[in-house]
Amino acid sequence: MGNIAIQLKQIHDQIDTYPCTLVAISKTKPVSLLQEAYNAGQRDFGENKVQEMTEKQALLPPDIRWHMVGHLQRNKVKQLAPYVHLIHSIDSLKLLQEVNKEAAKCQRVIHCLLQVHIAKEETKFGFGLDEIEDLLTSVPFQSLKNVQIEGLMGMATFTDNQEQIRREFTSLRLLFDQLKQKQLPANTQLTSLSMGMSGDYLLALECGSNMIRVGSAIFGERHYA
Ligand SMILES: *Cc1c(COP(=O)(O)O)cnc(C)c1O
Repeated sequence: MGNIAIQLKQIHDQIDTYPCTLVAISKTKPVSLLQEAYNAGQRDFGENKVQEMTEKQALLPPDIRWHMVGHLQRNKVKQLAPYVHLIHSIDSLKLLQEVNKEAAKCQRVIHCLLQVHIAKEETKFGFGLDEIEDLLTSVPFQSLKNVQIEGLMGMATFTDNQEQIRREFTSLRLLFDQLKQKQLPANTQLTSLSMGMSGDYLLALECGSNMIRVGSAIFGERHYA
């Protein structure tokens, strides 16, 4: 077994009691390593840059499910609209309207998550916890027919403080559970709660995550040029 297959197996052994989707975050990694993960059975891959994802998508098997997890600019939506499986990083109504428009041109419905700002850090993109319900019940949102909101995504503060991370994940889980009780429009079916990365995926699963985004624990540390 190659190194990546070993890492994937270790993670699967740890998470096998939790019903969840493991998204392998392959940003900055060469196609050969993604192919290695694919050969080990991995089918969900996530990237944070549209151009990089589109280049890799063209070179890899067609049954891969591509997840966009990074900040998405409106002028890049057109590029990923034909093939993206799930956009985790919707952070404004305007972006969602653009995704809806491009999805319509491709005659498809694009599944999306709303990114919620749960960390203390100022720089993270996303909606406030208190903004989500207003968005989901707003008139312009309800008219979007080519997007389907299937859940929420959040990133905890980059810290060693486990209790803080637990609080942040729990706040998102509670919002998710509350929203599921509400009467929501037809384009919203809340099923996915995307939280947890290499450093905190077990904690995230304990807090109710059912989709984890794991990069360096599978592919090794990233080296930025
Ligand atoms: C890079 C990235 C990850 C994966 O990070 P690791 O710590 O390498 O597991 C997860 N989510 C998002 C949004 C990312 O940008």
